[in-house]
Amino acid sequence: MHAPLLLALALAASATPRTFRVDAFHTGNATEERFSLDRLVLEPLPFPGNPDRPVDDLNLGKYLFEVRDLATNRLLYSRGYATVFGEWETTAEAKEANRTFHESFRFPAPDRPVQLVVRKRDRRQAFREIWTLTVDPKDMYVDTSPPSPAGPVIEILKSGPPERKLDLLILGDGYTASECRTFEAQARKATDALLAVEPFRSRRGDLNVRALCPPARESGVSRPSTGIHRNSPVGTAYDAFGSERYLLALDNRRFREVASQAPYDFVAILANAETYGGGGIQGLYATVAAGSLWSPYVFVHELGHHIAGLADEYFTSDVAYLPGERIEPWERNVTILPDPTRPKWAVTPGAPIPTPWDQADYERRAKGFQEKRKIIRKRNGPESEMDALFLEQKKIETEKLSAEPWARKVGAFEGANYEAKGSYRSEVDCIMFSRDDVPFCSACRGALDEVIDQYAGAHARTSSSR
Ligand SMILES: [Zn+2]
Repeated sequence: MHAPLLLALALAASATPRTFRVDAFHTGNATEERFSLDRLVLEPLPFPGNPDRPVDDLNLGKYLFEVRDLATNRLLYSRGYATVFGEWETTAEAKEANRTFHESFRFPAPDRPVQLVVRKRDRRQAFREIWTLTVDPKDMYVDTSPPSPAGPVIEILKSGPPERKLDLLILGDGYTASECRTFEAQARKATDALLAVEPFRSRRGDLNVRALCPPARESGVSRPSTGIHRNSPVGTAYDAFGSERYLLALDNRRFREVASQAPYDFVAILANAETYGGGGIQGLYATVAAGSLWSPYVFVHELGHHIAGLADEYFTSDVAYLPGERIEPWERNVTILPDPTRPKWAVTPGAPIPTPWDQADYERRAKGFQEKRKIIRKRNGPESEMDALFLEQKKIETEKLSAEPWARKVGAFEGANYEAKGSYRSEVDCIMFSRDDVPFCSACRGALDEVIDQYAGAHARTSSSR
């Protein structure tokens, strides 16, 4: 080989460093938390993030981690994110017990020692340092061993190189080798559901979607409330934090080993299960029971949480807030209207703030459906009965909400973020609000667009259909 070619190869290699991973234990309770190092890993694949946007300027997430050059303190990489611990610490259990969750920090493999800094928002939403660790990429304990094979990578949507696209990885969990074909069909169907809604529809050319189906020994995933336990490849289980329809994969090391075998910025786990359920944690993963009637909807909704840290826009009237303790949430799609005349998103000209809608009528109906739901659950009714109830609710609510005078307009509608009063959403209906056949609201689309830009960059936007 002649010199210019060697130089070009060397430059190409330095432009795409491998993915470095710090695995740590995050331990604590409702009032304190601490981190400890588990191990350092050099993942098998190049870092898939956008080299033009290493620093996260979106200000999303309850937590933020930074990677700084140890010698110069220069910020090399940062990302806002959420954790399972961050949700658990708000539960009743955290007031009485300690728990440990395994977590990972992924960043481009540095060539010199770096400082990892973890920050968490304080009461005023400002990030404060809660842990720091010096990482030497040449440390003899950096694990370079390849992970146990998770099967071939299935290409679902291929738009370009990983470092220029938002890379979504869909993992199948609880599928035996013979069920992987079912998984592939479900993964394709879920991708179609995502690409049918904005902003994903317009930005299809900015996305790559791949899938992995690590074969399970037994079919299905764990569901402790019904006595079912499975040693599934990714470890997804129902009943997280005692909530029967909340699906999480708490064995992070297992999850990371599987995921490290395909390029990914974001992950959706399809669990081989029929009972309605899912979950979504910003920057970690989204989960969904793939066999449920509602799985396409849940997939898109949970990806809203996972990709852009979107808040739930629904509310129940029993949740009360304490005046004076409230602070504007960092989530882009909910607001407490610190300026009562102007929300943080652009509104439809002429829309009154707050924007009128028949909240009382909506709440009355929602309560009725909640009661019916409780009764079905109590006598452990079949999934089909719950599906029928949800379908009935969807039909009536779609009808009522779409007939609201300010439907499909952008304003500030009271009732959001689990709060009936004092919290507002941008449109009367949204994928983060209901199971209706509606798009993401304006605020949600804006937030998702910003994250897609962060991974696919301006460069990719001009080449897409946008
Ligand atoms: Zn929304």
